[in-house]
Amino acid sequence: MKILVAVKRVVDYNVKVRVKADGTGVETANVKMSMNPFDEIAVEEAVRLKEAGRATEIVVVSVGPAQAQETLRTALAMGADRAILVQTDVETQPLGVAKALKALAEKEQPGLVILGKQAIDDDANQTGQMLAALLGWAQGTFASKVVPAEGTVAVTREIDGGLETVDLKLPAVVTTDLRLNEPRYASLPNIMKAKKKPLETVDAAGLGVDLTPRLKTLKVAEPPKRAGGVKVGSVQELVAKLKTEARVI
Ligand code: AMP
Repeated sequence: MKILVAVKRVVDYNVKVRVKADGTGVETANVKMSMNPFDEIAVEEAVRLKEAGRATEIVVVSVGPAQAQETLRTALAMGADRAILVQTDVETQPLGVAKALKALAEKEQPGLVILGKQAIDDDANQTGQMLAALLGWAQGTFASKVVPAEGTVAVTREIDGGLETVDLKLPAVVTTDLRLNEPRYASLPNIMKAKKKPLETVDAAGLGVDLTPRLKTLKVAEPPKRAGGVKVGSVQELVAKLKTEARVI
């Protein structure tokens, strides 16, 4: 079984994001960029399935600028076999990405497509669901366990009330939750080896896909600053403050 994994290049999760002065977005110039953390988990899961003999080839895909090649190389160093960059300089949005992934899924015919449950920059949590709908494939979102069998895959999902296990007919779309696995660090020899693995660049038009953004960002603003706290001397004082100052009781 071939596995397709989608990886997005995002602002590193350790970076304190700053809003641009004109409110049109966040600063990305001279900011450390990395693979979206949920996508590292997706790559790790694919590599583990290959190591367990359940997968034969792992193809990683990113939709983004030329620099997203670095993200794809990281995935190759973790153990993916080859990479495809759908190169574009427009801001990528879930529907456009889902359409590009659909075109590639139709070409590559994977048994499984694994994505992160959400990208930490747009927090959309939409691409995997849209992709499954466009393809008409089964979907298992927020996976904390993935067990493939003959023609099916059992996906344990993290839901509000606890855990739910769904049996999906392959081919299927799976999105990863935090507890699915702990991604490995790429070793130096594997980073060197990854430089020689195939990385193909295609453009959206070549896939017959229009990536033009459909959503318009009106304004981006910092959350309001939190006011400092105060220490109260007694429960009575706390209750009084909650009544008269915070007015919440
Ligand atoms: P989102 O729906 O934007 O929260 O993203 C969910 C998942 O879709 C991510 O974790 C990625 O696996 C995938 N994805 C989103 N945008 C891209 C992109 N530009 N390139 C590759 N994968 C993406």
